[in-house]
Amino acid sequence: LAPLTVSDPEIAALVEKEVVRQHDGLEMIASENFVSRAVLEAAGTVFTNKYAEGYPGKRYYGGCEVADVVENIARDRAKQIFGAEHANVQPHSGSQANAAAYMTLINPGDTILGLDLAHGGHLTHGHKLNFSGKLYRIVGYQVRKDTETVDYDELAALAERERPKVIVGGGSAYPRIWDFERMRAIADSVGAFLMVDMAHFAGLVAGGAHPSPVPHAHMVTTTTHKTLRGPRAGMVLCKQEFAAGLDRSVFPGQQGGPLMHVIAAKAVAFKEALQPEFKAYAAQTVANAKALAEALAGEGYRIVSGGTDTHLMLVDVFAKGILGSEAEVALGKAGITVNKNAIPYDTNPPMKPSGVRFGTPALTTRGMKEAEMRQIATWIAEALEHRADDTKLKTLHGKVSEMAEQFPLYDWLRQPVAE
Ligand code: PLP
Repeated sequence: LAPLTVSDPEIAALVEKEVVRQHDGLEMIASENFVSRAVLEAAGTVFTNKYAEGYPGKRYYGGCEVADVVENIARDRAKQIFGAEHANVQPHSGSQANAAAYMTLINPGDTILGLDLAHGGHLTHGHKLNFSGKLYRIVGYQVRKDTETVDYDELAALAERERPKVIVGGGSAYPRIWDFERMRAIADSVGAFLMVDMAHFAGLVAGGAHPSPVPHAHMVTTTTHKTLRGPRAGMVLCKQEFAAGLDRSVFPGQQGGPLMHVIAAKAVAFKEALQPEFKAYAAQTVANAKALAEALAGEGYRIVSGGTDTHLMLVDVFAKGILGSEAEVALGKAGITVNKNAIPYDTNPPMKPSGVRFGTPALTTRGMKEAEMRQIATWIAEALEHRADDTKLKTLHGKVSEMAEQFPLYDWLRQPVAE
């Protein structure tokens, strides 16, 4: 059997190109990270060949005895990390985790109260083109205009008025810590379930750098590939009383066969998250975000909500007359990868919004600390100031690549293979 370079040189070359791209730039997309060699290896194993519909001990296919052990290990480690009563590690993605969680708790037509996408929520919390918006009645809550944070009194009043069946906490662009205890009290006061989508900050929870929603929420969903630094996939944690319903909602409710190779990689990532080094990683990720936010503020940029408690921040570049879309392109030319993002009460359209979202999980994995964040902030400011000057952006890219070189990534993939 030929290796990839022989059987499909076209794809092999593109994989190599992507390794170089990931190595040479500064990855500041808040939802991305770099998995370890061990996680990468597990994701590329022969478990990709195995059908294992069902759950350990109750499969619809033969030959699942090894897969069963892997899935049990992944479930046990997930429960151990988060102190959860039950874990389902089969969702292929964060979206499917959310679909399964809703399916367990409510029926089509029921009301979900989730953070507006335009205020930092996620598509699966009720966008009209998403399954969530099509299947359920969605009411969005917003952040306050003055503080740009969630106002729990307003949320309580809205819940009282709208009587949702589920209240969703968590989002994709909310830089502050959530008050899970208060959210649970609000949910209880209207007879709703509390669901927390901790996709963004799960790794911070795992590492003790963020409060845990697990003791408070009926259902906690997550992706495994953001701060948690596992393979691209999802997971749901819940109280024992919802365990059987959740498992039915994932399979056969939402999915067929689980991706066993990805579950193996999740197990490996969970083991890593249980190590003391992961605590240090989570703390450094937050410290780096704070350092970056302060340095960008020092460069005259307005940080939405005045800062961050987590791994991410939203920067209002339009306050300086720059569109988020322009900023994304300019920073890209300087080797800094980010995404444009709407800010709360944005007056600009989604494809040309007022903000940029920055995150530190990936750079922290590379070993960068506060000093690098401060240096990067000066480059960001220079790139944005000289956004129309391709020569200047190219010079900055050179500096970015020099810094990247000092924090090597996937070394063994970048070395020419010895014959
Ligand atoms: N939930 C939140 C809060 C997210 O930020 C994301 C991804 O961006 C998801 C769910 C969906 O995850 P996936 O892209 O794996 O479907």
